[in-house]
Amino acid sequence: MPAKKSKEVKKSKEIIADFPNMYKEASKADLKSCMDFAEEYKAFLDISKTEREFVKNSIQACEELGFVDIDKKKTLKAGDKVYKSVKGKGLACAVIGTHPCSEGFNILGAHVDSPRLDLKPNPLYEDHETVYFKTHYYGGIKKYQWTTIPLAIHGVVYTSEGKEIEINVGEGENDPVFYITDLLIHLGSEQMSKKGSEIVTGEDLNVVIGGIPVSDKDAKDPYKKAVMQLLNDKYGIVEKDFVSAELEIVPAAKARDVGFDRSYIAAYGHDDKVCAYPSLMALLAQEKPGRTCVTILTDKEEIGSYSNSGAQSAIYENFLMELLAKNMGGIDKFNMLVYRKAMENTKMLSTDVTSGYDPKYPGAYEVRNTAFMSHGIKIEKYTGARGKSGSSEANGDFVSQIVDIFAKNSIPWQTGELGKIDVGGGGTISAYMAKTGMDVVDIGIPVWSMHAPVELISKIDLYYLYLAYKVFLENIK
Ligand code: MN
Ligand code: MN
Repeated sequence: MPAKKSKEVKKSKEIIADFPNMYKEASKADLKSCMDFAEEYKAFLDISKTEREFVKNSIQACEELGFVDIDKKKTLKAGDKVYKSVKGKGLACAVIGTHPCSEGFNILGAHVDSPRLDLKPNPLYEDHETVYFKTHYYGGIKKYQWTTIPLAIHGVVYTSEGKEIEINVGEGENDPVFYITDLLIHLGSEQMSKKGSEIVTGEDLNVVIGGIPVSDKDAKDPYKKAVMQLLNDKYGIVEKDFVSAELEIVPAAKARDVGFDRSYIAAYGHDDKVCAYPSLMALLAQEKPGRTCVTILTDKEEIGSYSNSGAQSAIYENFLMELLAKNMGGIDKFNMLVYRKAMENTKMLSTDVTSGYDPKYPGAYEVRNTAFMSHGIKIEKYTGARGKSGSSEANGDFVSQIVDIFAKNSIPWQTGELGKIDVGGGGTISAYMAKTGMDVVDIGIPVWSMHAPVELISKIDLYYLYLAYKVFLENIK
């Protein structure tokens, strides 16, 4: 008998995981496409700083490609494109596939709200001849980061007659901006000895909005009155209208390339518009997919996904129900069990950002389980805090299915956790979606300085994120 051959030794790259820097690996053609995609993203981001603006611009992009409001359709067949605005602050849009919707959907879900400063219901006051807006911060922020930078005001006010007035000041080249002062360093020794969370308090985030009084010498609060008069002249609003206003203070800066090589983008609101934009674009690239493809853009993620525009709202599910019913012949054909079964067969990527390893703060990360900037998309099987609390852990078989389609379509990925176990944690919309029975996993890209007024992402990550979302919509079953 011949001697048994010794077992073949496999090459390292066949059995050892490697998650390389994609700027090192990408072809020239991919690099060019990456830079082009980044330009489109920056342009969209600059006009879509708030959830309302993001939704408005998304609907416009949808309509240009033939999408119609789902209310206008009685039935839905393969190739039909529909959307639903969720209170103007969220969006659900879909391209109907050749397979019946009862077999399940392929969904991408991001959020389009970002940390910011909202106006208080009674925001306007004057103090020592300066006029201010009182604000209440929205989402998790380091409050001191929001002082001494140019700020813009975006949003809407509803007059007592129910008229919606749009306000957007601070973005145009000749627009004024707004500003939150900080104490000068010369007098700041006591302030500087405080804990970071106390250097600037919530009640300190008062925005300077004016400083010229009305000419009437007897007027009470002449500086405040002058600003209110300006607002009344320009927008027709009165002070009491602030009760229904949704005005958001955001950094006035535009998205900018970072680095001599332009490898990164600095911008306000990458979390989570850097996932929302490719989620939308991946859907817009669909014509007649196999399974029905859906992108949802939700609001209020930064404060718990509540409200009727947040991911926990029934409206997003209503949209899926309507897709199913109209695909089955009309809303009177709806069947709850058929819907529930379709949900069990639905696959979703919760498309949200993650933290990028920051060499300046190595203590916060566990290097073997963290995402690196420019190393591509990150598959995050679970999020949560402490003992995975609050996490919607994805099922392993679903994760392996995703890894398989990524391998077959040359999509590079990395994996890991947000940071060190005991350092902190976070969550996404995945838990709320998983409740319906669908399979969900978080896939996004790493961000530096998350929730700061200006955050940083890598262009190459963004590019592969778009390709990954597209591959998911077109291939997952
Ligand atoms: Mn997020
Ligand atoms: Mn966030």
